[in-house]
Amino acid sequence: MFKALRARLFQKYRTNKFPDAAPKLPEHFRGRPEFDKSAVDAEAWKSAAEVCPTEAINAQTPAIDLGKCIFCGKCAKANPAIRFSSEYRMGCMKRENLICNGSLPYTPDEQFDAGIKALFGKSLHIRQVSAGGCAACELDFNVLNTLAWDMGRFGLKVVASPRHADAVLVTGPVTNNMRLALKKTYDAIGEPKLVIACGACAISGGIYQTSEKASCGVEDIMKVDLYVPGCPPHPATLLEALVRFMGRKQLDNRA
Ligand code: SF4
Ligand code: SF4
Repeated sequence: MFKALRARLFQKYRTNKFPDAAPKLPEHFRGRPEFDKSAVDAEAWKSAAEVCPTEAINAQTPAIDLGKCIFCGKCAKANPAIRFSSEYRMGCMKRENLICNGSLPYTPDEQFDAGIKALFGKSLHIRQVSAGGCAACELDFNVLNTLAWDMGRFGLKVVASPRHADAVLVTGPVTNNMRLALKKTYDAIGEPKLVIACGACAISGGIYQTSEKASCGVEDIMKVDLYVPGCPPHPATLLEALVRFMGRKQLDNRA
């Protein structure tokens, strides 16, 4: 007991202050892209669209689909008018809100859903399904369970059985081999239930979108309630989206 107290005194409180304080992001972090829509040069824009590996850039209109973007930064090299900001808050409840028109500050037009807050505002039990992909999304989701992020503070918990879950969090594009397993997991969760698409693969197929061995994301199979873009999404992006989704924190109050 004395040893434990001494260790705690020595180590102090290790869980970060996020989301009350802004997270510490690495210098090379690429967040929401920024560009001046009115000053975009059509030819330069097209050259950015040509180098994009996931067709996230609309060649005709200055817009980037964050649901497809893998944040590789190639477009910014091809067209210096595109810059990647440190805005990590990119989770959306509507697919159309993932279309980025380049403007900052970012003010999404959506708040939490009162119904979701009433049902899951105090706790959300999540069953995670790895439906293909490269496993980086799962790894960064697992980070939220560590001492540094401690998502349990917000009632967020990973459960081993879909019978105990309120939501399924899917990573990967949903390969043909995982399609049935995902469907069975979803069916095993009691109503009401939520679906969270985590990462570009789960939202749109990402880098696997042309593969005949996989779907183009979860939406090919079931309705999605929360989209969290990234490749993989930074833990701060995912936790902020989950906490806002549950109604634990409103956009107005965000750090
Ligand atoms: S950062 Fe996104 S939009 Fe830009 S080239 Fe890479 S995938 Fe395409
Ligand atoms: S979105 Fe990116 S990090 Fe996540 S599974 Fe797909 S390729 Fe991997």
